[in-house]
Amino acid sequence: MIPYGKQSINQQDIDAVVNVLKSDFLTQGPVVKKFEEAVADYCGAQYGVAVNSATSALHLACLALGVSKGDVVWTSPISFVASANCALYCGADVDFVDIDERTYNLSAEKLKDKLLNHKNNNKPLPKVVIPVHLAGQSCDMEELYKLSMEYDFKIIEDASHSMGAKYQSQTVGNCRFSDITVFSFHPVKIITTAEGGLATTNDRNISHRMKLLRSHGITRDENIMTEESHGLWYYQQIELGYNFRMTELQAALGLSQLERVSIMIKERSEISKLYNNEFKSLPITIPFQNENTNSSWHLYIIQVDEKSHKKVFDSLRGNGIGVNLHYIPINSQPYYRRKYGSFTLPVSEGYYKKSISLPLYHGMSKQDQNSVVVGVKSIFK
Ligand SMILES: *Cc1c(COP(=O)(O)O)cnc(C)c1O
Repeated sequence: MIPYGKQSINQQDIDAVVNVLKSDFLTQGPVVKKFEEAVADYCGAQYGVAVNSATSALHLACLALGVSKGDVVWTSPISFVASANCALYCGADVDFVDIDERTYNLSAEKLKDKLLNHKNNNKPLPKVVIPVHLAGQSCDMEELYKLSMEYDFKIIEDASHSMGAKYQSQTVGNCRFSDITVFSFHPVKIITTAEGGLATTNDRNISHRMKLLRSHGITRDENIMTEESHGLWYYQQIELGYNFRMTELQAALGLSQLERVSIMIKERSEISKLYNNEFKSLPITIPFQNENTNSSWHLYIIQVDEKSHKKVFDSLRGNGIGVNLHYIPINSQPYYRRKYGSFTLPVSEGYYKKSISLPLYHGMSKQDQNSVVVGVKSIFK
């Protein structure tokens, strides 16, 4: 079975991890710091906070922005469940904004309508909005930013899919139109640390707070202690934090992978171009791209007729093509249905009935690319 995505590991990656194993530090130390600086640098942000997953990064991002009981966080229903769960971890509630018909990203227009509707009807407004750059294509961040100014909410970009992507010719993660951007380094994502995540921000306080909370809320910095130090051994727990630390092994792998990020995205984009060319005359919808974005092509999502969706999916799987579906609308998961009942999100519902993710990853052989092309074409001929 050709997988829909997988990691690409070379000898340099392996050597980098082995070198850490032979060094003095295994968990969070100098290599984590170097990785944080390298990613922040690459994105054009001032600070980077590395943690053990993007889920943890989203959780800490919400905490750092003060999300708590009584608050509401709005996000896209077409995402991995972590984009919504992070608000629930903080005791807040979640609400969903429907997606754009063409990009499948949280729609700025629908957000605008929903904000106005909630304002006029005294319904809760969001403390934080979490747009998700689905498949690697950035949301319309400038529009979302304008709305955040008007309605006074914060923005966390879930950029789990979009390391190395561009918006208005600038690298995603620079936080020009957001407070925090979160990346995932799960093996199927653009670069990997096995498990791992990282948040970028330009706000020193946010960075400090996330770093405090990722390690139990403990500090050794006398400047923020509540009383004078008792001695060299002294530390204080000043908040309730967690153990969300990244290891040196993971950071070393991430640093090594980061060196190849442009090569990886170039290859992903070339495979996408090949698919676009081969599929453009078939009765399927190929991924629409906004002019002001350069996708990192984490996913290649096609849409087929609702009536043949399951048949096409099963037949591709039957032919050894490991297609997938990203995602089942979060609001329709049993947990969310139990908690909130049903939502009216017609575009997301329609999306779910038509979408299929085709295999796409760095290191995909020409032969496997060809198998996908032939497999898809054979269904529609
Ligand atoms: C993968 C993913 C996450 C979670 O990432 P982890 O590093 O596995 O915790 C969150 N949001 C989106 C959109 C993702 O694709």
